[in-house]
Amino acid sequence: MATGGAGQLFAVTTNPPQATGDGLAMALRAGVPVADVEFMQFHPTALHHPAMPRPLLSEALRGHGALLRDGRGERFVDELLSRDVVSRAMTARMLEQEVEHLWLDATALDAFDDRFPTIAASVRAVGLDPARDWLPIAPAAHYLSGGIVTDLDGASALPGLWACGEVACTGVHGANRLASNSLLEGMAFAPRVVEAIVGGKEGPAPAGALRAVLAAESPAEGSVPVRRIHRRPPPLLARAGGEAAAPAPHSAATTAERRDRLQRAMTAGAGVLRSAASLAETDKVLDELATPEEGPQGWELTNLLTAAGALLAAAEARQESRGAHSRTDFPETSPAWRCRLVLA
Ligand SMILES: Cc1cc2nc3c(=O)[nH]c(=O)nc-3n(C[C@H](O)[C@H](O)[C@H](O)COP(=O)(O)OP(=O)(O)OC[C@H]3O[C@@H](n4cnc5c(N)ncnc54)[C@H](O)[C@@H]3O)c2cc1C
Repeated sequence: MATGGAGQLFAVTTNPPQATGDGLAMALRAGVPVADVEFMQFHPTALHHPAMPRPLLSEALRGHGALLRDGRGERFVDELLSRDVVSRAMTARMLEQEVEHLWLDATALDAFDDRFPTIAASVRAVGLDPARDWLPIAPAAHYLSGGIVTDLDGASALPGLWACGEVACTGVHGANRLASNSLLEGMAFAPRVVEAIVGGKEGPAPAGALRAVLAAESPAEGSVPVRRIHRRPPPLLARAGGEAAAPAPHSAATTAERRDRLQRAMTAGAGVLRSAASLAETDKVLDELATPEEGPQGWELTNLLTAAGALLAAAEARQESRGAHSRTDFPETSPAWRCRLVLA
């Protein structure tokens, strides 16, 4: 399984349209352990523009002196803090000032076009001049730190199912992925998966993130303890000759509308800042949307709903704030929750 992330769970994302959590959803349907899905990393500085996926204005800009300004043009956070802290500060400020975006002021940077040619091209493409204009920005869903739990060779708990890349939970990202750590997934884990399969490895080993999952009753010393949680049943898939009682599947047009509704509900209730109340509101929307779908668009929506159900279950269960998971009703990090939430 190498199907990538699930940024399309949210209305605002840097991820391509294919990042619909298909692999994650397939694993959940098969009862294969999946973990850390509450840790969706939001990138603070995505260009606020109707284009989706949102172009990224990389950390390098802030590293070179670009400033974050709120709706009134004032600075409000240390620009060099980590992604989760900056995204939280921005979201809180956007809610307080009732604005849809804030600003990145890179006007004082010298030779912008020469030093950041890709970013310059993407902002100039939407009519902005980085030497003169403040750039509109908002946090966007960027990277799912969790996924299918694997050992250090990419073997999942189901013999024969291997996972690699953003769809996998190898354990290296923990609750708060560091920027550019996808390189680890590609450069360390991808060759290990290939070597293990070619070398005839048949099943999972008690190693990496899978170690504690396989040994849930008596976790090995040094491994992150595991708590198992229940997930909502995945929505029905429409099948020819399926159960007579199943309601009729939706048309492609309404499927697109329903995907949009899911994304907006996830952004509002399960995004950068969450609470029991906002997660429950999102749950209600999922309940309303959980009906049979058919065709590729419908199957994608079914997978999104399945992945969303897992993310909500984990976010509801984790009554603390840790890394990329921020609960406004539980703002502190609690040692009681120093564990990996596993759905299966
Ligand atoms: C804008 C942006 C900038 C980034 N910058 C960095 C960076 O600087 N450094 C870093 O380390 N990481 C970065 N990341 C993260 C990193 O790029 C991704 O985590 C990584 O590319 C994921 O690789 P992958 O092979 O797991 O998945 P992907 O590259 O997403 O590939 C998944 C593939 O599976 C296909 N697929 C999906 N579902 C199905 C299906 N049902 N059937 C068949 N095929 C399917 C997709 O079409 C796609 O081709 C960035 C991500 C984004 C979005």
